[in-house]
Amino acid sequence: MNISIPPAKFSDPDVTAKGETRAHVALVQLETLWINTGTLCNIECAHCYIHSSPTDDRLSYFTLADTLIFLDEIEREELGTKEIGFTGGEPFMNPDMLAMAEAALARGHQVLILTNAMQPLMRPKIRDGLLALKSRHGTALRLRISIDHYSETLHDAERGAGAFEKTLTGLKWLAGEGFSLTIAGRTAPGESETDERAGYAALFAREGIDLDPHDPSMLIVFPEMDETTDVPEITTACWDILNVNPDNMMCATSRMVIKRKGAAGPAVVACTLLPDDPQFELGQTLKEASGPIKLNHRHCAKFCVLGGASCSG
Ligand code: SF4
Ligand code: SF4
Repeated sequence: MNISIPPAKFSDPDVTAKGETRAHVALVQLETLWINTGTLCNIECAHCYIHSSPTDDRLSYFTLADTLIFLDEIEREELGTKEIGFTGGEPFMNPDMLAMAEAALARGHQVLILTNAMQPLMRPKIRDGLLALKSRHGTALRLRISIDHYSETLHDAERGAGAFEKTLTGLKWLAGEGFSLTIAGRTAPGESETDERAGYAALFAREGIDLDPHDPSMLIVFPEMDETTDVPEITTACWDILNVNPDNMMCATSRMVIKRKGAAGPAVVACTLLPDDPQFELGQTLKEASGPIKLNHRHCAKFCVLGGASCSG
């Protein structure tokens, strides 16, 4: 008997397992360039999407010199990039973090730094440097603080005992000094987004933090990163069926630069969600990385097309 085995999902970049044409996303405009500052983090979260930890250095520290390569290309090629985003790991572990932010701000970019606001940020040298950047560049500098849940119990279940208190200490310092802040939360199983926002509202009121969690640009609630559930593949027909615009995908308006451990230089990848899959490594320059992205990964389906995930606020 001749039994044909169906091809696995997400195996062919052009065609889905059902034989349909896989969807792609064209780069409309490089609005945001993300810099991965390195995968080292001061903590190890249970569901870290990039699998960071205090020992994981598979993405090395990005340097000021690496950053200048891409800031120069943006300027030379007149790419019109508005925002430079920094993500990790924990960006404030990177010794060049303040210098990289200063370089981007000095060229007129908005800067967004994603941080857990724990000890790496709270070192006196970093706090002084942040205050100096704010006094020079004002609200062009923004920070986004991750608080996985408004309850200490669920936050610490994800991030480790004591994490909630430490992040709150950092958040209160930043808010008290008048930094431009947003919060990244996550949906907890069984809770609606309305419940989540009400929970954060109570937390901020209790702690005297002046942020409006009902404003979706102030509190971004990300979906849970469950990497085990089955997801459908995205075909060219899906955009119309789902009424989703490919131009709203993160890879239509951004790229991320990384430096792999041991690599001679930095590389450009499609987005913040896929630093490890070689299919999504696009070259060494922004120009080389400006082609369309074939949505050949389960994250494309689950977090972007179906889940509405976006890492840029
Ligand atoms: S703080 Fe962020 S980068 Fe660090 S382990 Fe947790 S989710 Fe990952
Ligand atoms: S995960 Fe999302 S942003 Fe990244 S390549 Fe896929 S669709 Fe684009």
